[in-house]
Amino acid sequence: MADIIQLLPDNIANQIAAGEVIQRPASAVKELLENAVDAGATRIQLIVADAGKSLIQVIDNGKGMSETDARMSFERHATSKIKVIDDLFHIKTMGFRGEALASIAAVAQVEIKTRRTEDELGTFLEIENSTVKVQEPCATPEGTSISMKNLFFNVPARRNFLKTNAAELRHIIDEFIRVALAFPQIFFSLTSNGQQVFHLEAGNAKQRVLQVLGNQYAAKLVQVKEDTDYMNIYGFAGKPETARKTRGEQYFFVNNRFIKSAYLNHAVMSAYQEMIAKDSFPLYVLFIDLDPSQIDINVHPTKQEIKFEDEKIIYAFVQAAIKHALAQFSVAPSLDFSL
Ligand code: ADP
Ligand code: MG
Repeated sequence: MADIIQLLPDNIANQIAAGEVIQRPASAVKELLENAVDAGATRIQLIVADAGKSLIQVIDNGKGMSETDARMSFERHATSKIKVIDDLFHIKTMGFRGEALASIAAVAQVEIKTRRTEDELGTFLEIENSTVKVQEPCATPEGTSISMKNLFFNVPARRNFLKTNAAELRHIIDEFIRVALAFPQIFFSLTSNGQQVFHLEAGNAKQRVLQVLGNQYAAKLVQVKEDTDYMNIYGFAGKPETARKTRGEQYFFVNNRFIKSAYLNHAVMSAYQEMIAKDSFPLYVLFIDLDPSQIDINVHPTKQEIKFEDEKIIYAFVQAAIKHALAQFSVAPSLDFSL
């Protein structure tokens, strides 16, 4: 009998891998926004049509790509962000797996325009089914514009599985907000079907939180801030009166990456203990920074779950930081609690 095992062609391998990275329009939004952040952009515009089902476009003024890099960027495992195994333990960029653009190009029709400062002309690329259809020089502003049309046009099962436009747009807005909260120094805008949904001028962390969550919280947040050699925490916790019956506005970022952690959420909730009604949820936006070698963000392709080297220390630290912040606000303002 003849041997029967073959390597998958790249376009099939990419489409299979895409299933893990790009589950819905919002996943593509997250990847494109993060690439723009990694490119050092100070202005990032997101444009969607039909909740991303027909169009997702991200325009940035970041460092752009050379002609060769623009083509390479859509190859699987193609990344400029890590080179040697050791880099994996010191990651400071949002991306590093080199699979987002390859995945997107496997399940959508992609167009890219990009130019570096030093180049007079930029590059235009059109890609479909992981194959470059057109590549030519073009005049384009400094930075990168990537647009992806007709997501899942070649994966009907996945296209059918998408929710209503209202639901998919909600997911997109969630991802947009997470990135916008983590990078207040960057201007972000979101336009949906020609209508502006967000226009967020660059500012500081508090300004961004209020831009996104609403000015009604201006007097209802306490600042959280503790620094140790091991880790820092910074951000805002809602006064107990902001607690709601629904678990809405609770954000944890570790090294600027939004993460989901029931464990850390519990740490925050425990600090509020007696101050809020049972089964109600306070608002918080918290940024934890620690040495990248202390965390493993590589446990899932979407990087929303991470592993901490020492979870217990972080739990105790978060709990103490929130307690401290809440105590400062609830006692007489004349007392000086600064350490
Ligand atoms: P990763 O972000 O994990 O490296 P991606 O597939 O998202 O992988 O992107 C591949 C590469 O393409 C990046 O490493 C980067 O060099 C380049 N790239 C992607 N998007 C941009 C952008 N908006 N501006 C400049 N370079 C980009
Ligand atoms: Mg990326």
